[in-house]
Amino acid sequence: MVIDLSNALKFEGSKVDFDSLMEVEKIEFMGDQYKFLQPVRVAGSVIKVGDTLQLNAQVSGSINVNCYRCMKAIQKDFCFSMDEVLINDDLSDVKDEEAIHFKGSQIDIKEIVINNILLNISMKHLCSQECKGLCPQCGTDLNIKECECRNEDIDPRFEVLKKLLNNNEK
Ligand SMILES: [Zn+2]
Ligand SMILES: [Zn+2]
Repeated sequence: MVIDLSNALKFEGSKVDFDSLMEVEKIEFMGDQYKFLQPVRVAGSVIKVGDTLQLNAQVSGSINVNCYRCMKAIQKDFCFSMDEVLINDDLSDVKDEEAIHFKGSQIDIKEIVINNILLNISMKHLCSQECKGLCPQCGTDLNIKECECRNEDIDPRFEVLKKLLNNNEK
């Protein structure tokens, strides 16, 4: 997603507005896969402030992720605002590790947007707070049916007794 910044590079306070749809198919991050159900909308502006350009944008979209307990695909909508400082290395000698350095009059902000999406959505997603997840032994989705595996809460004292009895039998 390339933005032409020539009109924002002119003088203090000059500004470029943008409102675009960015195609992202899917991103993989920390073993999770995020599928985008529609293009991500990125709308905002870039304003020249001193030696820097201030990028502010509203990012919104919708993704498919898997519930981390039962693996069911769920839809999550997101909408957040992001702020970044851009520095044009052709026009400024300022070195700022926090800022995004670029050259020329255009900048591709796709990667910046994706990093911000990951910051805002990468956490454990649940299909519902009550999701029972999958049985660790047989893999049955416990939201749909109960399985035969006996995961009952065994009284630990009873367990000790059972062990003693078993040992005596040997
Ligand atoms: Zn679930
Ligand atoms: Zn089971």
